Amino acid sequence: MVIRVTERIYYTDPACIEFDATVVSASTAGGRAIVVLDRTAFYPTSGGQPYDTGSLGAAEVTDVIDLDDGAIGHVVSAPIAEGAPVRGRVDWHRRFDHMQQHTGQHILSAAFDRLQRARTVGFHLGAALSTLDLDKVLGAEALSAAEHEANRIVWESRPVSIRFATPEEAAGMTFRKEPARSGPLRVIEVEGFDLSACGGTHVARAGEVGVIALRSWEKFRGGMRLEFVCGGRALREFRILRDAVVGSLRYLSVAPQDLPGAIEGAQAENKDLRRTIRDLGERLAGHEASALVQRARQVGPARVIVDVLDGWDQAGLKALASAAASQPGVVAALLSAADPALVVVARSPDVSLDAAAALKALAQRFGGKGGGRPDMAQGGGLAGPRAEIAAALGQIIESLLRPGP
Ligand SMILES: [Zn+2]
Repeated sequence: MVIRVTERIYYTDPACIEFDATVVSASTAGGRAIVVLDRTAFYPTSGGQPYDTGSLGAAEVTDVIDLDDGAIGHVVSAPIAEGAPVRGRVDWHRRFDHMQQHTGQHILSAAFDRLQRARTVGFHLGAALSTLDLDKVLGAEALSAAEHEANRIVWESRPVSIRFATPEEAAGMTFRKEPARSGPLRVIEVEGFDLSACGGTHVARAGEVGVIALRSWEKFRGGMRLEFVCGGRALREFRILRDAVVGSLRYLSVAPQDLPGAIEGAQAENKDLRRTIRDLGERLAGHEASALVQRARQVGPARVIVDVLDGWDQAGLKALASAAASQPGVVAALLSAADPALVVVARSPDVSLDAAAALKALAQRFGGKGGGRPDMAQGGGLAGPRAEIAAALGQIIESLLRPGP
C-alpha cells in the first residue's frame, strides 16, 4: 500500500468544497473501506474540530482521519479502486458551521486573553455546543465584557488571513498561545486582534461568524468551562429559548424579563396552598374522628370503633385513627372501602391493646401484610368482603381487650 502525504486543499482554500483527486491507496480496516487521495478538501478530526462529511464519486464519506504519516484517510460507504480519479464534494452546511464555531473560538479566546488575561486551556467543538476552558474564574460582568468585545470584532468583520511561517519568521511573532509544534507553521490572524498557529478551517472575514453567544458557564478544574454558540447555532438556540419563553408566557401573563420572578411567586403560592390543605385536612380528620368516637361501642374500659370508610387513603386513615386515639380510652380500627384493602389500628396510650398483634391475627385469616407498634399498626392487601373483615377485626380486638380465661 502506497501512502504519501496528502495535499490539504483546506490549508490554503477553506472555501473549496469541490475538487478532483486520484486515489493513491485503498484499504479496509475494521470492516471500513478507507481511501487516501493525492489531495483533499476534507478536514480530518483534529485540534478540537470534527471531520467533514460529503462524497467521493458515488460513495459517501462518513469519517475522515488524520493518519500518522501525514496522509488523510477517508472512510467511505463503498470501496473505490486504487488509481481511480474521483470528484470530492464536502458538505458545506456542516463545514461552514464548523468554520463559524472555530473562528468564533479564536476571537472569544483572544477577547478573554486581552481583557481579563484569562488563557484558553481547552476547546471542544461538539455536535450542538462548543466548550472553551479558561484558566481562571471570572464573574458574570467580566464574561459579558469579553462576549461584547468578541462581537465587536465580528461586527467590524475584520479579515481572517492564512499564512505560512518558517521557524525563523515564527520566532518574531507574538502568538496568543505558544505553538506546540516545531517546523513551518500555519498562522491564522484575525486582523489586529489574534495571532494563532492552527490547522483548522476558518471563515475569511469575522463577519461570517455572525454572532458569538455564551450559553452557560461553571467552575471547572480551578478555572471555568464555558458553553458557547456562534452564527447559525446561536439562531437555533435563540429559537429554542424563544419558544420556551413564549410557551411559558401563555401560563403567566408577565413580560419575558419578569418570568423568573413570576415562577418563584407561583412556587411560593403553591407551597402556601399545600400548607393550607394540610392544615384543613388535619382539622377535617379531627372533626371526623369526633364523629367516629360518638359511634364507638363500649368494650370493657375501652370505646372501640371498627368502621369501613370511603374516600381516605392510607395517610388519611392513619391521621383519622390517630386523631380518634388522641382521646382517652379509644381503639380505632379503620378499613378502606376501596381496593386495595387498607387497614389501620390505633389506640390511646391508656388502653392495654397490642395493635400490631391484632393486625397479625387479622392477616392470618385474610392474608395481606402489615405491622407496626403496639399503639399504631397498619397493613394492606387483605382479601375478602369488607364487612366480614371488619367483623373479624372487631372480634379480635374484643378478645385481646378481654383475654379469655
Ligand atoms: Zn483555528
